[in-house]
Amino acid sequence: MADKIKIAQYWGAGCGGCDVALLDIDASILDLHAIAEVVFWPIGFDGKLHELEQMPDKSITVAFYNGAIRNSENEHVAKVLREKSVIMISFGSCACFGGTPGLANVTNKEEVFQTVYKDTESTDNPEFVTPQTSVKVPEGELTLPEFYDTVKTLDEVVDVDYFMPGCPPTVDLIMVAVGAVLKHVKEGAPLPPKGTVIASDKTLCDECDRERVETDRRIDRIYQAYEIKADPKKCLLDQGIICIGPATRAGCGAMCPVANMPCRGCMGPTKAVMDHGGSMLSALASILNITDSESKLSEEQIIELMMQVKDPIGTFYAFTLPKSLLKRTVKERKRKG
Ligand code: SF4
Ligand code: SF4
Ligand code: SF4
Repeated sequence: MADKIKIAQYWGAGCGGCDVALLDIDASILDLHAIAEVVFWPIGFDGKLHELEQMPDKSITVAFYNGAIRNSENEHVAKVLREKSVIMISFGSCACFGGTPGLANVTNKEEVFQTVYKDTESTDNPEFVTPQTSVKVPEGELTLPEFYDTVKTLDEVVDVDYFMPGCPPTVDLIMVAVGAVLKHVKEGAPLPPKGTVIASDKTLCDECDRERVETDRRIDRIYQAYEIKADPKKCLLDQGIICIGPATRAGCGAMCPVANMPCRGCMGPTKAVMDHGGSMLSALASILNITDSESKLSEEQIIELMMQVKDPIGTFYAFTLPKSLLKRTVKERKRKG
């Protein structure tokens, strides 16, 4: 055991899929077991926070933190893990960019509580009782983490060494990361530069085999994936289905287009892209004939075209809203009356 690297994995605000992804490595788990000892993984081994807090600083070789930062507990565990670990990896789209939990940044804590604890038909809560961080009961004090107004990414609360995007990251990427750490520990091989994204630097379109229209690319209608039978050989975007591939980092093997479904962008933006959704919006505008200086479209026609995009935030920022230039859309909504 002494020669093994020590690994920790934690689940913040996420769906648990990233934890399952570690188990998905199938037979490779035997390779992992041969080289690594898991010292903290609450989902896998029922580890307790106080056990983590008692570990010596930097005694964990590598910590994989998945999930976004939604509440004070997520942030506290992230900070403890940071202290205890030599290498901290932001694991999965939720940790890297906010992911799907980050879509809650279109609203705020007050409205989330209003919906969940009052307005839903399955809720009977006339006094609008909501979670409190501290409640006195005869037996003593009960506490809950503080629910934040804004969903944050992991690197907003701790120093992150590497980023591994994906919803969840693929087995190949996981094995690349574990292999690099092992080579470093066993052979003294240099680690990648701090801040490296463990994935390709190319765009998803570069690793997608579909045929693209190379010149004078134009579409005049946007379809939802279920509205047409897409040609499995041709680029989905060229067929009018919004595929986020042009703005998205490669590394997943273009698995959604391979399955005849458009990319939703879970690998996040490439290094060259500052804002994932903004970049895709710009790519879409160019093939919708909107940005062309010779465009004959009137403003009404442009609005009509863009109105075909159902759920713009969910389309362009499905995984990256907290990491976008927008970050969030609502701070405080003025109540009517
Ligand atoms: S990145 Fe995807 S799989 Fe991982 S926790 Fe978030 S939603 Fe789940
Ligand atoms: S837009 Fe989508 S379907 Fe088209 S080449 Fe890029 S990844 Fe493939
Ligand atoms: S194709 Fe897009 S949405 Fe699908 S796994 Fe790859 S990056 Fe994620």
